[in-house]
Amino acid sequence: MLPPLPATAPISAETRLTYVLRHFGQAYAAVPAVSIGYRDAQIQVTEAAGQFFSQTNPYPPEPVWREWLGQQIPFFFSPAADQPLLELLPDGRAHIHADLISAAFYLLSGWQEYFSDERDHHGRFPFTASVQHRYGFVAVPVVNYYFDILKTAVEHVTGQHCQPRQWAADAPFAAFITHDIDNLHSAWKAPAKAALKRRDVVGFGRQLWQHFTQSDAWDNLALVRQTVAEYGAKSTFFFLPNHLPTNSTPNADYRLTTELKTQIQALAAAGDEIQLHGSIGTSGHGLRLKREQHLLPITASGLRFHYLIWEPRLTPILLDSLRFTYDTTLGFAEHFGFRHSYCHPFHPFDFTQSRATDFLEIPLNVMDATLYHPNYLQLAPDEILPALQPMFGEIERFGGVCTVLWHNENFDPANLHNGPQQFHIIMDYLRSRKTAFVNGREICCRL
Ligand SMILES: [Zn+2]
Repeated sequence: MLPPLPATAPISAETRLTYVLRHFGQAYAAVPAVSIGYRDAQIQVTEAAGQFFSQTNPYPPEPVWREWLGQQIPFFFSPAADQPLLELLPDGRAHIHADLISAAFYLLSGWQEYFSDERDHHGRFPFTASVQHRYGFVAVPVVNYYFDILKTAVEHVTGQHCQPRQWAADAPFAAFITHDIDNLHSAWKAPAKAALKRRDVVGFGRQLWQHFTQSDAWDNLALVRQTVAEYGAKSTFFFLPNHLPTNSTPNADYRLTTELKTQIQALAAAGDEIQLHGSIGTSGHGLRLKREQHLLPITASGLRFHYLIWEPRLTPILLDSLRFTYDTTLGFAEHFGFRHSYCHPFHPFDFTQSRATDFLEIPLNVMDATLYHPNYLQLAPDEILPALQPMFGEIERFGGVCTVLWHNENFDPANLHNGPQQFHIIMDYLRSRKTAFVNGREICCRL
């Protein structure tokens, strides 16, 4: 099932440097001209990756932990910590005694999942197989810390201040509020099933009667948009144009009828963003993905895959070939945080062509289902915000984007675990921190 590893050329130090410095340049408003490299540079980085990037091992040697900005940070490819991490030399040069170029490349490019053979039953790279899980740093955007070290070196060498890129109205960070639309008609099923199970014929009959005579509680797109709009935010909806299950895993419980298409167009006309929710199997199948892209009544240039299914050996190439502008699938379903240890949008690495992808990845940070699900976390309602706050704080510290996925079905007041109340708590918090609410298109335009 796992696609074989294509034969790829070793990733040279120069390729790694170009890829990482491109992202460093995008993280700040203007980086003054300065040479950064392994040799003869104003900012000299100690090269310590050895042969790692000419082999196919998914995991580097254990990181060395060092402190930066008061936080313990893992440094992969770092020589022993017997020298200062950053040495600011009096002659206008600087020395970084850790190979943070290689470490940033390793994390941002998605190296671990590309070379790992581990996939779960949905074909996803499992959180438990990640270095973020192994070393416990999933909620720390380690690459942003690496860039802060580089920035400090640049400021020393040039005497100029490096401003982080600004969001609208000088907001300290941005929030991207998204909804995957998997179900519009199934709110009645769980209570009906529960009634049957307890042999409550009257209760079962009531559910059936309501189902056939009233609109479903999950047929709530107007409610979702209204709830989000009350925070001054715009929703981004991902619609799933496939109602047939794939390998007995459900896709949409709805069809793209004329009536629904009219509703989708009305949402777009009201200023919401409409994008594609690629059905199961499409992350590895260009033709099917393209067909789904054209089934929506609005041209979709952004997407997220259903079940967050992503095959690192195939999907990035597909997205570029179909000219998607952005994707926002890459978070771990099992845990909130930073799957690529970075809190800004970035370009994943195309290992077959040894270059950054054209499409932009807007990493997914927190999904409703992650917070309360038999296979994921089981946080009590009052544990949710305390659990997420450190991650939100990291995004704010580095002026990143916080991507939230709240399914429309979880705007149903019957959901007391990860439902509308918990959504409000998160939104109230984000608003209190003066975030800029943005949508996917605005994020893409900013870069
Ligand atoms: Zn979905």
